[in-house]
Amino acid sequence: MQVGRPQLIEWLSYDRKQAKELFEKARAIKHKNIGRKTFFRGLVEFSNICAKDCNYCGIRKSNKNSHRYKLSDEDILESAKYALDNNFASLALQSGELESRAFTSRVAGLVEKLMAIREGGFGITLSCGEQSEETYRLWREKGASRYLLRIESSTKDLYYQLHPNDAKHNFERRLGCIHLLRKTGWQVGTGIMIGVPGQTVEHLADDLLFMQNIDIDMCGMGPYIEHTDTPLYTRRNELWPMAERSFMTIKMIACLRILMEDINIAATTALQTSDPLGRTKALSYGANIIMPNITPGAYRDEYALYQNKPKTSDSFSDYIDSLETEIRAAGDEPGYGVFGDSPRFGKR
Ligand code: SAH
Ligand code: SF4
Repeated sequence: MQVGRPQLIEWLSYDRKQAKELFEKARAIKHKNIGRKTFFRGLVEFSNICAKDCNYCGIRKSNKNSHRYKLSDEDILESAKYALDNNFASLALQSGELESRAFTSRVAGLVEKLMAIREGGFGITLSCGEQSEETYRLWREKGASRYLLRIESSTKDLYYQLHPNDAKHNFERRLGCIHLLRKTGWQVGTGIMIGVPGQTVEHLADDLLFMQNIDIDMCGMGPYIEHTDTPLYTRRNELWPMAERSFMTIKMIACLRILMEDINIAATTALQTSDPLGRTKALSYGANIIMPNITPGAYRDEYALYQNKPKTSDSFSDYIDSLETEIRAAGDEPGYGVFGDSPRFGKR
C-alpha cells in the first residue's frame, strides 16, 4: 500500500492507546496476505570475528574484551541436526564480517554440507556482511537463497554517526551490496536499528519508505541495545527508555506490514531482549518469522552484539515449548517443516 511520509510520521508518533488501531490494521493485513503461520529460522551465530568497527556493536574489531570464536563445521552440522530434529526447514547463518578467500570458501563449503543433510535442502539465510559480487554469486550457487544485510539507517548522516567515516564503513558500498544481492538472485532482506542516539520518527519514516522503494523481500529490525565496550555507549544519555524503543519497534513492524503486505518480517531476538513479550507483540501485529537461537551453548554468550541477550534454557524442549506458546499467544500456528519463503519474492 502507498502511504505518505506525513501519515507514517503520525503513526509512529502514536501513543499506546492510539496505536491500537494501527496494530489492528496491520494484523488484518498480515492475516489476509500471509496467513497465520509463523516460520522458523534456526539461527547459528557461527563466528564473532569481525574486521569492522561499527560504533554500536559489541563484537567490533577494536573490542579487546570480546573473546573470539569460530564454530567448527562439526558444531554447525550438529546445530543443523537439532533444527532437523525439531522440523525447522530453514536456517540462518550469521557472523562478523570478513572478506577473504578463506572465509568465502568456508561459507560456500558449509552451505553445501548443510544443503546435503536435509532431503530437499534447507532454506538458508546468510547474514555475513558486505561481499563481492563473485562471493554473493558463489554462495547463492551453493544453495543459500536469502541474505540479510541491514542498511542500519537509510539516512546517510545518521549512518555515519553509527559507523566510522572511513573506506571500510561506506554507506554507498552497503547500499550497492543490497543491489548486488538482488542482481545475483537472492531473496533480499534489510533492516535498521530502532532507537539509536540521534534518531527521530522522521528518520524512521524514511527508513520505511526506503525499504518499500527498493522493494525488499524480507526485513529484520529491532531495538538498539547499548553495549558498554563501544563508542556509542558515550551517547547513552540521549537514548529513549527501553520500553519506548520496544514500542517503537512494534509500531515500525506494523507500519511496514501495511506498506508491504507480502514480505517476510522477523520478530527479532533484540526485541525479545528489550521486552519479554516483544516477540509475541511483533507476531501479533505484522511479523511472521521467528529465529530461535540454536548456536551451541558454549558460544552463545560470546556472540554479544549487545548486552543482556536472553540466555536460552538448558533444555531445548522447554525452549521449543516456550516458542510455541509465544506463537500461539499471537494467534498464529507454528509453521513446521516448510521453508516459509517470502511470498513477495515468489511473485517476482
Ligand atoms: N556482521 C554482519 C551480520 C551480523 S551483525 C552485519 O553487520 O551485517 C547483525 C545485526 O546486528 C547488525 O546488522 C545490527 O543491526 C545488529 N546489531 C549490532 N549491534 C547491535 C546492538 N548493539 N543493538 C541492537 N542490534 C545490534
Ligand atoms: Fe561486525 Fe556486523 Fe558488528 Fe558491524 S554489526 S561490527 S559488521 S558484526
